[in-house]
Amino acid sequence: MLRSFPLMAVLYACAIPAMAADCSAEINSTDQMTFDKKIIEVDKSCTAFTIRLNHTGAMPVAAMGHNWVLAKTADVEAISNDGLSAGPAQGYLKPEDSRIIAHTRMIGGGESDTITINVTALPTQTPLEFFCSFPGHRSLMRGAFQVSR
Ligand code: ZN
Repeated sequence: MLRSFPLMAVLYACAIPAMAADCSAEINSTDQMTFDKKIIEVDKSCTAFTIRLNHTGAMPVAAMGHNWVLAKTADVEAISNDGLSAGPAQGYLKPEDSRIIAHTRMIGGGESDTITINVTALPTQTPLEFFCSFPGHRSLMRGAFQVSR
């Protein structure tokens, strides 16, 4: 599965004009409970931004599940706590939680999920953060999501 990523990146690069910003990011998650990025920066020219989350480990979703959740930094703790109550069947996120700006599904080793975020609808006056809502992962699996203005 990993071998296909470089080819996809090349195809994608050819599909956009040379000077256009790359309105996408790929983030890898691991069996060591980590994301490989601590910051994701979005160019202000992007109206939509695509996130591809990969789980490069081998552990099953029940033991080492990862998702990518975007929210205001101020809401992260409450979203996370409500996610614990929601449990694994809901991917550790409260259904219809309006504080969640965007999220992937919860995935296990070898899986991927891709979402597209409407950049123009993002709050501009408050810090945003991404994190994994699996129990106990948030302290290690979090980072800043910044839109250049
Ligand atoms: Zn996780």
